[in-house]
Order: sequence, then structure tokens, then C-alpha cells
Amino acid sequence: MNQEKPERQRIPRRRPEERVEDFQEVARGYTSEQARREAERCLQCPKPQCVEGCPVRVDIPGFIKKITSDEPQAAAEVIKITNVLPAICGRVCPQEDQCEARCILAASDEPINIGALERYAGDRARKQEKPSGNLTNPPVAVVGAGPAGLTCAADLLRLGHPVTIFEAFHEPGGVLVYGIPEFRLPKEIVREEIRHLEDMGAKIETNVLVGRTVTIDQLLNEQKFASVFVAAGAGTPWFLGLPGENLPGVYAANEFLTRVNLMRAHRSDYATPLKLGDRVAVIGGGNVALDSARSALRVGASEVLLLYRRDREQMPARKMEVEHAEEEGVEFHFLTNPIRFHPDDQDHLGQIECLQMKLGQPDDSGRPRPLPVEDSNHFYDVDNVIVAVGSRPNRIIGETTEDLETNSDNTIAADESSGATSRPEVFAGGDVVTGSATVIAAMGAGRRAARSIHNYLT
Ligand code: FAD
Ligand code: SF4
Repeated sequence: MNQEKPERQRIPRRRPEERVEDFQEVARGYTSEQARREAERCLQCPKPQCVEGCPVRVDIPGFIKKITSDEPQAAAEVIKITNVLPAICGRVCPQEDQCEARCILAASDEPINIGALERYAGDRARKQEKPSGNLTNPPVAVVGAGPAGLTCAADLLRLGHPVTIFEAFHEPGGVLVYGIPEFRLPKEIVREEIRHLEDMGAKIETNVLVGRTVTIDQLLNEQKFASVFVAAGAGTPWFLGLPGENLPGVYAANEFLTRVNLMRAHRSDYATPLKLGDRVAVIGGGNVALDSARSALRVGASEVLLLYRRDREQMPARKMEVEHAEEEGVEFHFLTNPIRFHPDDQDHLGQIECLQMKLGQPDDSGRPRPLPVEDSNHFYDVDNVIVAVGSRPNRIIGETTEDLETNSDNTIAADESSGATSRPEVFAGGDVVTGSATVIAAMGAGRRAARSIHNYLT
């Protein structure tokens, strides 16, 4: 009998020429038939290595088994034991470096498409959790409504604590709503998770900048919260520090993406329009750079160049997103390092001057160090530049909270396993502690902190 090896089910995606015209999601989900076929490829290893690769240790064979028996709701329940946001993680987790990298099939064949299966289960899960009811434990304030804050709040409610989340922006969700664009993560999915959290009993106060509107000490002493979890993320951009960087036409990626995602700045009928020229350069090689480049195409730029000082192999961005960006027409210029921004005759950005680079010995990050090639100066005519070279936390909480220890890059000094800080009643987790990392890492920190806060208060 011919025993054909079942192939990894590709996740369908929209055609590039169609998808650059709008912000709708690029990757489509599996049909039930595709999901079952992919799930049936799983070998159900007795000691699954994929689970070791997941930062929150989702029972991957357990949930995949439920998909083979056509029970997506039960599959989602298995995932939710450790990961409360499967529809989100299935879409944005760097699976190729985490769970899928450890799948035993990766060595001889293609790994199981764990992310696509998680998304399938998450999209079909019905929200069943009822309001928490007995919130008799001491109340907790959460600063920041990103994945760390939302996950911590959900766990605290389950543990019987009333929770109020204070969010600086007018919409909760953190980077899930203002950073990652709609074409990778539809905002309705995030909004539904937030509605669910509110149904469980969470109070969310938006437009509250903790450190200005109210301080952490006021939350503790005047508003009588018993503890505070700080999950304020890392939303302050790093700049290159190059001459001409403050010319009109140069944007920080955080500002650009926030204005497009949250303020609809690409639409002229909204109050704060953002106008890009025809030729846009994006500087950087991570997910933020790619999201900026692909958003720039959708906002109307006809040519988008991505300038990265290392080579393709060292790009920290997800491989799938690099592929999608190339299909959409983003032009990659590797081993290219900007050294100066030049104005045009209107004193607006006109050109970027760059050096060609070559790769040397590994640096502290373990990646080959980019070194300039002598006399390799070259110029690109551009209308706009979007700088996407990393971000760090804002200083405001560290500066306004007495005795809260912070580091030189503004991150809060906190114990990784508990979130405990130098102040016993203050806990912290997510990007505000680690610097920019991943959604699932932030959620893991939120969960650990909820448990520590509960132990501390009870
Ligand atoms: P955030 O999501 O940053 O949330 C912090 C919240 O706190 C924000 O809503 C902020 O407004 C609020 N806040 C800040 N200061 C205050 C204050 N003083 N008072 C009140 N509220 C405050 N990760 C992945 O895993 N996969 C990806 O594909 C991916 N792509 C990304 C693309 C972009 C463009 C960006 C920017 C990041 C991406 N990341 C990705 C990283 C990931 O989104 C973050 O690691 C994660 O969101 C961190 O979660 P957090 O809850 O710690 O912080
Ligand atoms: Fe993989 Fe992320 Fe799901 Fe863990 S949470 S199993 S790393 S997709």
C-alpha cells in the first residue's frame, strides 16, 4: 500500500497585490479539514520537546489531540490552562524559534504548524467564564493594559482580587492595538479579550498616565490599593543620534505605527492626518521595522526601502513576515548603515547617506559585528524615514515612585520569577522589566506576578 507522508498544511494567505490595498488580515486561518489534517501529523510524543520550547509550557500534544477528534472548544480549553490568549499567540508568537523549533519532526521533515493550530482553536473558542463574583481579597491596581497587565488582571480576578487597570492611552491593549498592525492581528480579537476581562469584573480606566495623573504612592496610600503591578511596557524609542535626525519627514516607528493603528492617521477624515511621500526608507531589521515598512506601503508610499546594517540571516524579524514583506514589494538593502540625513531645499528630509558594511567577529549579541567598508558612502533620495532601532521604558514611573529601583535603560529592577521589586507592595513584569521582548513572555510575567501578589497579600 502506498503510505504517503502527510505534508504540512500551508496557511492560506491573500494575494500580495490585493492585500497592500487595505489593512485586512493577510494570513487566513485553517478550515476544519486543514486543521484536522495538520493535527494528524502530530506524533503525540510521550516526552514532547515542543512543550519545552514554549515559554508558558502549553500542553501542545494535548490540545492537538482534541483537534484530531474535531473538538476545537476542548482544544482551546487545554491551551487556556497556561495561555489565556490563544487566538493572539497563534498569530504573533515567534513559533519558529520556540515550540516549532523543538518539534521532533523539524529535524527530518517540517515541524507541526503549532501556531496555526493554536489560532484555529483560539478563533473557535467560546468565552464561557462568568463574572468572578467573590472578589473579597485585597484590591490590586495594574498599570498598563498590554498583554502583561491584562494577563495579570485575569489571574488576579480568578484569585478573588478586585482589579483596576490604569492605561495611558484611550484604548486598552498595549502593543497589541497600537503597535502590531491590523493586517497581522485584527484589533477585534484583542477587543473581544478585553470585553471578556471586563465581564469577569476588571475595571479599566483609560487616559490615566500613572506618574502624572496619579502616582503609584497615591494609588497605594490614597486610593487604598493593597498592591500595584507595573506593566507599562517599553514604548520610548531609541534614536540613532545621527546628524539631521530631527528634520521634518523623519519618524520614530512607535509614533508612526501608533498614529496609523490607533489614530487612523492615514485617513484624511481623521483629526491627525499623516502624510507620507512616495519614497520611504525604514531603518532596522526587527518586527517593528517590517510592520512599519508594510504599513507605509498601505498608507500610500509607492516605494519602500528597508535598510539593515547586518545580513538577512541576522534579521531578528520573523521569517514569515520577511517573506510577506518581500511579496508585497518592500525592497531590502542589507549591510547598509545610515550615517547622516540631508535636507532638501525646503529644509525637509531629502537624502540619507549610508555606508556599506561587512560582517566581522561576533559581538556581545553573538551575531557578526557589522564593520564599515572604507569610502563606501552612498545616497538614497527619500521623502520620509521611519527609524525602528528598538525601544525602552519611559522614565516617568521610576522618577515618581520613591525607592523603586530602576536600571540605566529605565527598565525596572524586578525578580524574574516573582516580579518582586525593591518596594514590597510593588511588582513589575513584561517589557518594562526585560526591555522589548515578546507577547508570550509578557503574558508569562503577568501570570507569575499575579501568583506572587496573591501570596504576598494573603
Ligand atoms: P505593552 O504591550 O507595551 O503594554 C504596556 C501598556 O502600558 C501600554 O498600553 C501603554 O500605553 C501603557 N502605559 C505605559 N506607561 C504608562 C503609564 N505611565 N501609565 C499608564 N499606562 C501606561 N511580540 C511578539 O511576540 N510577536 C510579534 O510579532 C511582535 N511584533 C511586534 C511589533 C511591534 C510593532 C511592536 C512594537 C512589538 C512587537 N512585539 C511582538 C513585542 C510585543 O508586542 C511586546 O513584547 C509586548 O506587547 C509587551 O507587553 P507589555 O504588556 O509588557 O507591554
Ligand atoms: Fe507555541 Fe506560542 Fe502557543 Fe507556546 S504560546 S505553544 S510558543 S504558539
